[in-house]
Amino acid sequence: MGHKSLLQTDDLYKYILETSVFPREPELLKELRTANEGHPMGVMGVPPDEGQFIQMILKLVNAKKTIEVGVFTGYSLLETALALPEDGQITAIDVDKKAYEEIGLPIIRRAGVEHKINFVQSPALPFLDELLEDPKNEGSYDFAFVDADKNNYSNYHERLLKLVKVGGVIVYDNTLWGGSVAKDESLVEEYMKYFRQFVMKFNQILATDRRIEISQIPVADGVTICRRLC
Ligand code: SAH
Ligand code: CA
Repeated sequence: MGHKSLLQTDDLYKYILETSVFPREPELLKELRTANEGHPMGVMGVPPDEGQFIQMILKLVNAKKTIEVGVFTGYSLLETALALPEDGQITAIDVDKKAYEEIGLPIIRRAGVEHKINFVQSPALPFLDELLEDPKNEGSYDFAFVDADKNNYSNYHERLLKLVKVGGVIVYDNTLWGGSVAKDESLVEEYMKYFRQFVMKFNQILATDRRIEISQIPVADGVTICRRLC
């Protein structure tokens, strides 16, 4: 497993994984993670320590109805489905269906949690707007996880603040963007630059948004937890 963390050393990350994460990672999540390793974009899946952390949040808030933006092969989706109760419901949105259908879905079926998932193949923004056309959807979600196009996070935020209930939680992934948010631009790798500016702007937006409480967590590539206040 490559270094997927902002921690000081690989050894410390390895220690966390081996001590607290791998021994408790559900067998089929492990299988999906291993399957990701064979995919050219496999590193996009959330790492298992982050998965464990998100499962903990889902359980702490008793999440039953959730939204996921950015599924890829489905690691975070399976992790969420396993944490929800039997009658839990996840609306999972991705422009691409291939990675999910080919890699994640067969494993999700075997895990016996497919019934909790409504996979929607669509760009997320118009679909979230479509959800908002029905007033019944407003404030009806307990939790949302956002892990897609970083240039749209602020747009997703406005929609999700209406869809998630007061007291509900929105988690944004990759908010430290490989640590590049705190680097001088001249030291940032070229392929990181485009989304970096959006991530930095988004972090500023969250920091001053009075409608939420936030916590920036340096797990994996940085995760920001938002709790809707009003
Ligand atoms: N959470 C996933 C990783 C998501 S990777 C996991 O744990 O494996 C990011 C995903 O966002 C990709 O699958 C990509 O197809 C999707 N994506 C990118 N732009 C999007 C958009 N505008 N709307 C919906 N999904 C998008
Ligand atoms: Ca991610």
